[in-house]
Amino acid sequence: MPVSRSSPIQAMPGVGPKRAACYARLGIASVRDLTGMYPRTYIDFSEASSVADAPLNEIGTVRVVIQDHHTPVRTASGLTIYTVEAADDSAGLEIVFFNSPYRAQALLTGQVYYLRGKIEGNLFRKKITSPMVQPDGQGPSLVPLYPLTEGLTNKMVETNMRAALEVVLPEVTEDLPAAFTAQFGLPDAVTALHDLHLPPGKDELDRARRRVVCEELLAVGLGMRIMNARQKAATASPCHVIPMRDWFSLLPYALTNAQRRCIGEIISDMCGTFPMNRLLQGDVGSGKTVVAASAAFFAALNGYQTALLAPTELLAEQHARKLCPLFEKAGFSAELLTGSTKKVRRAELLERLAAGKIALLIGTHALLEEDVQFSSLGLVVTDEQHRFGVQQRARIYERGHSPHILVMSATPIPRTLALMLYGDLALSALDELPPGRLPIRTRRIRSGQLDGLWSWLREVLGQGRQAYVVCPSIEESETADMAAAETTYEQLRELYPEFGVRLLHGKMKPAEKDETMREFAAGQIQVLVSTTVVEVGVDVPNATVMLVENAERFGLSQLHQLRGRVGRGGGQSFCFLLSDSRSPEAEARLRTMEETQNGFEIAEADLRLRGPGDFLGSRQSGVPMMQAANMLSDMALTEQIAAYCDEVLHDDPALEAPEHSGLRRRAEELLEQAGTLN
Ligand code: ADP
Ligand code: MG
Repeated sequence: MPVSRSSPIQAMPGVGPKRAACYARLGIASVRDLTGMYPRTYIDFSEASSVADAPLNEIGTVRVVIQDHHTPVRTASGLTIYTVEAADDSAGLEIVFFNSPYRAQALLTGQVYYLRGKIEGNLFRKKITSPMVQPDGQGPSLVPLYPLTEGLTNKMVETNMRAALEVVLPEVTEDLPAAFTAQFGLPDAVTALHDLHLPPGKDELDRARRRVVCEELLAVGLGMRIMNARQKAATASPCHVIPMRDWFSLLPYALTNAQRRCIGEIISDMCGTFPMNRLLQGDVGSGKTVVAASAAFFAALNGYQTALLAPTELLAEQHARKLCPLFEKAGFSAELLTGSTKKVRRAELLERLAAGKIALLIGTHALLEEDVQFSSLGLVVTDEQHRFGVQQRARIYERGHSPHILVMSATPIPRTLALMLYGDLALSALDELPPGRLPIRTRRIRSGQLDGLWSWLREVLGQGRQAYVVCPSIEESETADMAAAETTYEQLRELYPEFGVRLLHGKMKPAEKDETMREFAAGQIQVLVSTTVVEVGVDVPNATVMLVENAERFGLSQLHQLRGRVGRGGGQSFCFLLSDSRSPEAEARLRTMEETQNGFEIAEADLRLRGPGDFLGSRQSGVPMMQAANMLSDMALTEQIAAYCDEVLHDDPALEAPEHSGLRRRAEELLEQAGTLN
């Protein structure tokens, strides 16, 4: 049977069950899914630096001549090390491979290669381990880097991608109206898809990426507006004002003025005739959770149930730990329901939920699944979600509910962007931190200062405090990622035998991750070494030290989120940004972190320093790329597309005109996925 774009991925030559399973982990089932998996980023081999100029401890690209192959060395632990000598005009470079004779032998003496990888060693002797290799003069200068998973290399994806494109490209349809592509100067659908995966040059790539961004903004913009129209037609679960004095007296602290104001705004919405659609913005640590809990309590007083959705089980559990006892004291029942809830327990919870005996149900998006039946869902709160958009709302309305919606976010999203992401919404700002918070002392340090830092940390840990050590993602592979965290972990375990040191990384099973976090939260672990999984929402007030390794690799907003994990209790907290980078851009960004703790300023600086571009980076296959941080860099475009959406729907509200059929399909696809996602 000929392979078509809807064929399963195994139908392609060279893809067996094992590789198909790898793709499945990335959410890819069909040939078309594969071509829809966009590169995270691209290597530009034309931007190679000289070996002498390649900064140490950073990922770099160099162009070298191979000089010599050393005799392999076997280590005590059974590893065989293959070393190849290379050089350019400026300096020599040692290339190292572990256990892979073929990779070493493939480098021919006297030939020129581009190499890409982390440059290590010292200023006199530089070294690159298991680099990506491209022979000079062969292959394109721009090479896409795809999201990968264990068992899947970039080379494999590149090969499969070429084959998939041959199938898919002839079948690509143009969904965008000609007027739109003209207005925004976009390439046609076929060119764009081709150039994204096989970019002939920088300009073509930029144009293709711009088209992807425009398409996604357009689909979400339209979908959101259609949802808004549906919501306006629904009637709210009207509440009436009931005093909440008892509730406030149960809280372990007095609310800030900002918290009281935001709660007031929410309650007044909930008493209105339309369902609320409100965004609660507040910097990390500003105390959003208690505002949401107060809204849930108010709903309960009015006889309505609340669903509180967190992005991870870990955060759901954290909420439950705080809110369940509080609700119990206030005379209502709050429960946690996640993927790990045992069957019997789950059945029991669902029964009580349907009988209206649970006032607050806390969990992940699984709470919106079909079999979770509320008796009177009046409020849906989502925490730390940039993506709570079209699909989730569609799913809620599809189930016949029209609850009030409260979205909480620590990302300072400008209003236009918020409108685009969440539709016609109201905004509450928590612009005040709880009292007694000391500013977090932030310092950029270099590797040379680490020893001093470790002895200082020993004292801090000795005083009963806890620390996070975060290692960045290394773009080339997840495995390398873990290696970085693992090295640090081993080192610290040896250094601090008297303290509990643990490793947390993305490849651990969710249950293992949660267990580790639980132990950290309970103070059984003193140092948590992790990849970036601790980024959002985690609240362990006793942790007062955050160390970020290779800090130059993080976006400012991400650093701000990471820093927000400390400074949550009374004590003095510290954030150390470790970086040996000398690039002026990195220096400027790290200085910004030292100078300000204001999330808004940081987001603006991020935009200024990073500039547009880089927006495909965190797109996950099948998920609209609605990552606020990325979109910040495309504000002007977002506004123009928002205006375009308004115009189109004003003239053609149901998108019935023939030139809008493609758009209608897109918007429908987006809304439909909601119904089929579970
Ligand atoms: P975020 O806005 O980042 O979600 P949280 O809701 O997790 O912040 O609150 C951060 C910490 O501040 C929590 O430990 C919480 O108990 C505490 N907190 C919240 N409000 C107040 C307040 N008014 N006074 C003192 N502590 C507060
Ligand atoms: Mg939070």
